[in-house]
Amino acid sequence: MATKTYLNFIDGEWAKSDSEETFADINPANFREVIGFFQASTLSDLERAIVSAATAFEKWRFSSLSEREEIFRKAIVLLEQRKEKLALELTREEGKTLQESHKEILSAINEMRFQVGQARRFLSEPGTSGRRDIVCYSVRQPLGVVSIITPWNFPVNVPCRKITPALMAGNTVVFKPASFTPLSGLMLVEILIEAGIPKGVLNFITGKGSEIGDRMVTHPLIKAVSFTGSTEVGMKICQQAPLHMAKVQLEMGGKNPMVVLEDADLELAVKDAISAGYACSGQWCTSTSRLILHREIAEQFLDLLVDEVRKIKVGDGLDPKTTMGPVAGEEQLKKITSYIELGKKEGAKLIFGGKRLTGYRYDRGFFIEPAIFTQVKPEMKIAQEEIFGPVLSVMAVDSFNEALKVANAVKHGLSSSIYTRDLVRAMEFVNKSEVGLTHINLPTSFKEPQLPFGGIKLSGYGIPEAGRSGIEFFTENKSIYINPGSENTE
Ligand code: NAD
Repeated sequence: MATKTYLNFIDGEWAKSDSEETFADINPANFREVIGFFQASTLSDLERAIVSAATAFEKWRFSSLSEREEIFRKAIVLLEQRKEKLALELTREEGKTLQESHKEILSAINEMRFQVGQARRFLSEPGTSGRRDIVCYSVRQPLGVVSIITPWNFPVNVPCRKITPALMAGNTVVFKPASFTPLSGLMLVEILIEAGIPKGVLNFITGKGSEIGDRMVTHPLIKAVSFTGSTEVGMKICQQAPLHMAKVQLEMGGKNPMVVLEDADLELAVKDAISAGYACSGQWCTSTSRLILHREIAEQFLDLLVDEVRKIKVGDGLDPKTTMGPVAGEEQLKKITSYIELGKKEGAKLIFGGKRLTGYRYDRGFFIEPAIFTQVKPEMKIAQEEIFGPVLSVMAVDSFNEALKVANAVKHGLSSSIYTRDLVRAMEFVNKSEVGLTHINLPTSFKEPQLPFGGIKLSGYGIPEAGRSGIEFFTENKSIYINPGSENTE
């Protein structure tokens, strides 16, 4: 069967790019398998998408909340009906295991459900005047055309939790998925179209961030940019968008610490270090990448950890026996292996894994062994920079205070965890940990849709997405005061 070529979706029509060129979306577990060809879009394609969104905004902004809710309720049903197919395609193009893909789709459905309900609450909040003779209220208004730029590691969930509040608030959208995972984004768009999103309201465009990304930020009709991706690209967007007063919401990289104190439940801590360190091959923004162990339990913890890491089965995510899939692409693989070499040069000790897997089923994919470095010093690059792979950097400390200091000694501030039975130290950690989300006896990757999600320091900027604040970013306020009579209001 010929490999399918997928199109952009602009102004209610599926369309080829003006470039007449495409790029291949490949399976990272078998790079000879091309999942599909996608449009290598140009600035002229983008211009059409933005203008179509701007035209559609004039009508969509005045659509009723019930009308928008109705569309998203249908989309939720369609997502549920197609979850098996979506999970399968997600695993084929991203590499995560089928179980991880299922979890992502369920999580996306939950995010959508919550944001639809939250839109109703947030957009209908009444105001009250301090005076009996004045009526006042405030409304939240949509911004206009917004750019949604997303990464490959959560190719359904991240677009879902951005596009839902953006459209529910009455904005129109130009959405660009990452080039490793365009099919997942496209399938979500197909569902929204089928659910009834009108022409021009949601536009889908594929292509290189380096070709069309800048213009998705600098175009004068773009009123806001919601971006999830690397800190490097996020910082660039942060400089460009304010030049024409576009709002930005940036969710970026992490270097998340898990602190294990001497009184921790070690079995629980090891189980969570495995899931937060190696799920999705360590490619979650909230993955644990630094393990900060109290010296008293470090050796015992590491013995237990190595025993569990040995049980990880690396392979094709479609194989039910696999517990860790490939990394998402060749560039990822090169980046991770170069950090492993760097760690060795820096003087850390690689006590487990870290090699590219070869032979038989591994030769055609981007497979790497889960890795553990010990004797890591906080100032080493492997303890400072986001590797975004299945690599745990372990540091031993002598006290809670030292653990806290090491945990905070990075430029990122996304997520953190502490494992202890001591409530006083746990709460001190919660107060002093420099992150956007923190946990006690839970993995760094744990989140629920009703809470805001975003980092601080170089991990996040602007109003965080999801939760109660998710929709706020996509709106602006208007306060209205009415004097119903002709009384003097001085
Ligand atoms: P990336 O920054 O390379 O790409 C993200 C998106 O930005 C892609 O769609 C890409 O095409 C686009 N892009 C690239 N250059 C651009 C430019 N100049 N202007 C505008 N857009 C541009 O990131 P990635 O490799 O896709 O994803 C991995 C990164 O995402 C990691 O750093 C990870 O921590 C981060 N991430 C963060 C969160 C979070 O919520 N904080 C969640 C998931 C992933």
